[in-house]
Amino acid sequence: MTPDDERHLRRALELAVSARATGDGPFASLLVGPDGQVLIEAHNTVDVDNDITAHPELKLARWAARELDLDTAAGTTMYTSCQPCGMCQGAIERSGIGRVVFALSTAQLTALKPPAPPKTVRLEGPSLPDEAGVPLAGYYL
Ligand SMILES: [Zn+2]
Repeated sequence: MTPDDERHLRRALELAVSARATGDGPFASLLVGPDGQVLIEAHNTVDVDNDITAHPELKLARWAARELDLDTAAGTTMYTSCQPCGMCQGAIERSGIGRVVFALSTAQLTALKPPAPPKTVRLEGPSLPDEAGVPLAGYYL
């Protein structure tokens, strides 16, 4: 981790503290461009927006995919107060963001939370693979 990495991570932690003061979860992120300039900052608004997807990492990934070309996105670094969850990691990968630096790991975050049963969903399929291929025919050519 470079001194700039540390400075940007500390900014993410400042944003996390201010998010909590506004009634949101204490999580925040920022995206830094290839030239080292901060492009955008965001904090968790799950509670205030009543939106389970309002994680800061997802907001930044959506912004990057919308606003940056792939080469620029690949040169960006996301600094985030906690390790991205599975939802956000998937979005980050799809956005083309090149690097993520986090301050607290998922295991470390979990250790700070009260115990809770794991969240699971039953996935069933593939159930109609031949029919499901019809709308995809020729799409990827
Ligand atoms: Zn997340």
